[in-house]
Amino acid sequence: MAEEVLRNIGPIVLLGPPGAGKGTQSKRLSDRYGIPQISTGDLLRENVQRRTDLGIKAEAQMSRGELVPDNLVCDMVAWRLRDQDCERGFILDGFPRTAIQAAWLDAFLKHQVLENPKRHLCSPIVVRFDVDYNKLSLRLTGRRTCPTCGRIYNVHLQPPLVDEICDVDGTKLIIRDDDRYEVIQERLATYERQTMPVAEYYKKQGRLISVNADRPVDEVTAELFQDIENHETAPASGD
Ligand code: ADP
Ligand code: AMP
Repeated sequence: MAEEVLRNIGPIVLLGPPGAGKGTQSKRLSDRYGIPQISTGDLLRENVQRRTDLGIKAEAQMSRGELVPDNLVCDMVAWRLRDQDCERGFILDGFPRTAIQAAWLDAFLKHQVLENPKRHLCSPIVVRFDVDYNKLSLRLTGRRTCPTCGRIYNVHLQPPLVDEICDVDGTKLIIRDDDRYEVIQERLATYERQTMPVAEYYKKQGRLISVNADRPVDEVTAELFQDIENHETAPASGD
């Protein structure tokens, strides 16, 4: 990895409707910059699968396409961000999703820098993925995920070499429970109602970068690398 990509990159926040390509791009950013992808959706699904207290509390809302309460998600993120692999930066995929979560994240990052100045957790680079809504349904209904390595496919747009089998490790691909038509409609409505204001929150502070994510995956990746590498790292907001 070049020196440029190994610098302290800080937090990267990916906003965008379900199906915009946040997970797909997060994996590429994680490989390039050597920082972890923190997908709140993945963490919650793991909790549901392991039947933890959090998973049991979150399950009903997730299956309806609604958001899990802010306090539960923020506590989960706080635990994860304290891990050492987040010291040089991390990618938040699917968080923050409400104005309360965004304000919480700013306060959390500021506090962490005060507590441990070595952490280099400056204010996040915030990227919003813009995609034509008519394309999202095909992206979501065609999505398949490898439960072993997490690679994301699309039966219409990025199919695996062998039907329903992961190219990397041969595992049978799975369909997410919430990628059904009725739940997709609710998830999109939830995005408009609760997450669009988050982009406005960052926009007002001059911290929002918009990316046209309605292009081939490699083109979106190239633009993200460029935007991130041209971005001046700023101190935590409010300093
Ligand atoms: P999100 O994490 O934002 O919900 P994903 O990364 O899981 O979105 O992508 C949703 C679906 O769209 C997947 O099936 C993925 O293969 C496909 N996809 C992602 N990016 C693109 C793109 N630029 N063009 C076409 N399909 C894409
Ligand atoms: P995702 O994998 O990002 O599409 O998220 C799947 C589901 O997990 C969402 O529909 C919500 O129910 C829940 N979820 C994920 N992230 C959050 C968040 N930041 N706040 C609240 N709920 C979330």
